[in-house]
Amino acid sequence: TVPMEYYYSQVINSTHTLELANRKRANATFVILARNSDLDSTVRSVREMEDRFNRRHGYPFVLLNDEPFTEEFKRRLNAVASGEVFYGQVPKEHWVQPDWVDEDRATKGREQLVADNVIYGGSVSYRNMCRFNSGFFFHHPLLQSFRWYWRIEPDVHFHCDVNFDPFLFMQDRGKVYGFTITMYEFDKTIPTLWETVKEFTKLHPEHVVKDNALGFMSDDGGETYNRCHFWSNFEIADMNFWRGPAYQDFFAFLDSKGGFYYERWGDAPVHSIAAGLFAHRDQIHFFEEIGYEHNPYTHCPKDPGMWERGKCGCDPARSFDYDGYSCMRQWDKFVGN
Ligand code: GDP
Ligand code: MN
Repeated sequence: TVPMEYYYSQVINSTHTLELANRKRANATFVILARNSDLDSTVRSVREMEDRFNRRHGYPFVLLNDEPFTEEFKRRLNAVASGEVFYGQVPKEHWVQPDWVDEDRATKGREQLVADNVIYGGSVSYRNMCRFNSGFFFHHPLLQSFRWYWRIEPDVHFHCDVNFDPFLFMQDRGKVYGFTITMYEFDKTIPTLWETVKEFTKLHPEHVVKDNALGFMSDDGGETYNRCHFWSNFEIADMNFWRGPAYQDFFAFLDSKGGFYYERWGDAPVHSIAAGLFAHRDQIHFFEEIGYEHNPYTHCPKDPGMWERGKCGCDPARSFDYDGYSCMRQWDKFVGN
């Protein structure tokens, strides 16, 4: 009889390894912020990403954590990723609440949100995470050589085959920010954010792009924020946009107001508002064909052709897109669908 090795080697040697090595790739990586305790759920997210997309591409992964990753974490992740995996620790200065933040005021802010039953209302580490994702991840040494990233999280799902390279798509079309789910932000987490944004744009009108996406985020020409934002647990975006002068000035200004700690500003509205003001409206892209789930919401392609080609496991009838809490209607109206 033929030894088992023969059957294994047939598959492994056929095309895959060679194809991956020669594959045209963008200067891109996945980015995952995770805790050691997120091990199983991170492995599951990466496993699905590999099956649905990355095993045909071999893009690398950058894993970041405010603590050192354990050897077990690395061993389990290395086993599922087709591309190289880099593990990094977030420097303290990019993570912990800065000294100049008034701790009494921050405590009162947290107590208020706890009293209001706002999710993560009392959590300092959640605020650290939001501020890090807003202002620092793209400065991490492990990300310096990359331009494009796809952010994923532990415990998310990819419901369809991704039969194209979203990074090359972004690059070829000059896109800046890609999303799959958009919704309203809780107003209690951002009471003064929009006022702060308006203050900034008055100070720095030079950063505001003509033909931006303000019309998606405001129903009255910028006076008030309608709270629509892109859900940032999924992002495919250009780090050079975050590293550029407009966003750098914007983040520094927001950070100086302390709202990441006095309130609970999320990286989702912060990124979204920036993409909406400092990029051209055509540079924001809705990835309809990428079926995606982050508890409790799922985006499932509604176009039957897309759904079939993607061999999607999700039910389009259950897609979040036209849920009452989704901002997809605003997006459709804005782009003229
Ligand atoms: P949610 O999606 O808003 O409910 O928040 P998550 O708990 O999913 O956190 C968002 C992301 O940040 C996930 O990738 C988490 O693994 C990560 N994260 C949140 N808090 C921490 C933390 O304290 N340390 C680390 N290393 N990662 C965190
Ligand atoms: Mn999450």
